[in-house]
Amino acid sequence: MTPWFEELAEFLRIESISADPERAAEVRRAGEWVRGVVRQAGGECDLVDWHGQPLAVGDVPASSKPERAPTVLCYGHFDVQPPDPLELWESPPFEPEIRGEYLYGRGVADDKGQLYMLLGAARELAQAGRLPVNVRFACDGEEETGGHSIVEYLAADERAAQAAIIFDSGMIAPGRPAFNVATRGLVYFHLTVRTGGRDLHSGMYGGAALNAAHALIHMLGAAMPVDGRLPEPLRAGIVPPTEDELEGWRELPGGASELADQGARAMDPRAAEEFYLRTFAEPALDVNGIESGSPHTQKTVLPVRADANASIRLAPGQDPDDIAAAFERLLRDALPAGAELDVQRLSSAPPGLVPPGPFVPEPGVPPQTLPPQKVAEVVVRGNEHVPTDQLLAVVSTKPNDPLNDEKLRNDVQAILNLGQFADAVVRFEPVPNGVRVVFVVVENPIISSVDITGNTIIPTPEVLKALGVETGRVLNTVTMRNGLRAVEKVYQDKG
Ligand SMILES: [Zn+2]
Repeated sequence: MTPWFEELAEFLRIESISADPERAAEVRRAGEWVRGVVRQAGGECDLVDWHGQPLAVGDVPASSKPERAPTVLCYGHFDVQPPDPLELWESPPFEPEIRGEYLYGRGVADDKGQLYMLLGAARELAQAGRLPVNVRFACDGEEETGGHSIVEYLAADERAAQAAIIFDSGMIAPGRPAFNVATRGLVYFHLTVRTGGRDLHSGMYGGAALNAAHALIHMLGAAMPVDGRLPEPLRAGIVPPTEDELEGWRELPGGASELADQGARAMDPRAAEEFYLRTFAEPALDVNGIESGSPHTQKTVLPVRADANASIRLAPGQDPDDIAAAFERLLRDALPAGAELDVQRLSSAPPGLVPPGPFVPEPGVPPQTLPPQKVAEVVVRGNEHVPTDQLLAVVSTKPNDPLNDEKLRNDVQAILNLGQFADAVVRFEPVPNGVRVVFVVVENPIISSVDITGNTIIPTPEVLKALGVETGRVLNTVTMRNGLRAVEKVYQDKG
């Protein structure tokens, strides 16, 4: 067997099942294994305890001038799912085996195999003296149990990175590598419809009494897609794909075969041709289950309670709170008179979007002062979210105040005058609570290292205070993210 197999097999044999408290030592051992590879690459690595399973955090420096090279943050997880039911395995889950063209073993494809490739690539380049970037590994052993340690660790880490790779997904097709620049989010609901005090006999009340199953179906109908598109209120905030993305998607395997391979049938005649548009860039509603009356035993019941689980996949750019509210409004508007609806939001996760674009560091320029590639703007109203993390400056003022409007314009002009933001677009819009907020957002995370200083970029003092920014301090992307929360707070306080 080739050496890579022996080495990867060693990693795969560690039974790092994070859901099993008895395997905590194994999870730690898997973290130590990651640490070992980073050290072999000439890097530093530590196991860090951060209120959960230990994190493996380490840096492999660029082969030359690491202080001037950009840093790439790599995420992977070294824990795995429990392997049961064991009887369905053809070879033992923790004894990796090659059969045909595939390697079988727990964690091969999620996520030890992928993490091994990143570690191996960094090590090989470093040992050959050809690693062009600093590589920071930030790996956790609790991804499969929904742990948050890594997120909290990174949020508290003041060091900036210029790019990040999350290598915890699959390949669309062999020989077709791809970058995922977006993920859909999710809001998940449990719905209960009640239409009376007790179930009734359809022979006596059918045709006159309100049936909860009917009310549920009727109500859900209002949120269903037509020609593959959800009602407009559920599509609010979508960031449409760029021409580049659409072009890339055309090279992917056809939607018809993607559906057929799973034994799935197209939702409507255009579903196959729009497969990627719909599954990458549009929201989707799915009723995950319905229960009412007597669906299996023949019974002439007229049910007065109906339950459903329903969830919406959110398109990049959408806000879970906004879409949840819009969904509930649609349902309530369609609810027949006399029916009561209880909506429980069980969980939600925002979508992710990294604006695609080239990262071209200028030779010899320290990462902190590299100019951005592109500047975009986003106007944020209410509590909509900025769809990127790279918040540069926030300026707020009261509406209809000419002095403040003037000041706002001057402040924004000052940003543009920095010379790096020639493409910036600024828009002014009133918001419901009477505060105007302008977010200037840049697409390239490099810009996150620009100073927010004195009079050059001027958030209002209260915003500055809430951001926790001292004059001249360098913000990193994570700080910006916290800043966004702080800004929302100021925003609410003012409203
Ligand atoms: Zn994973």
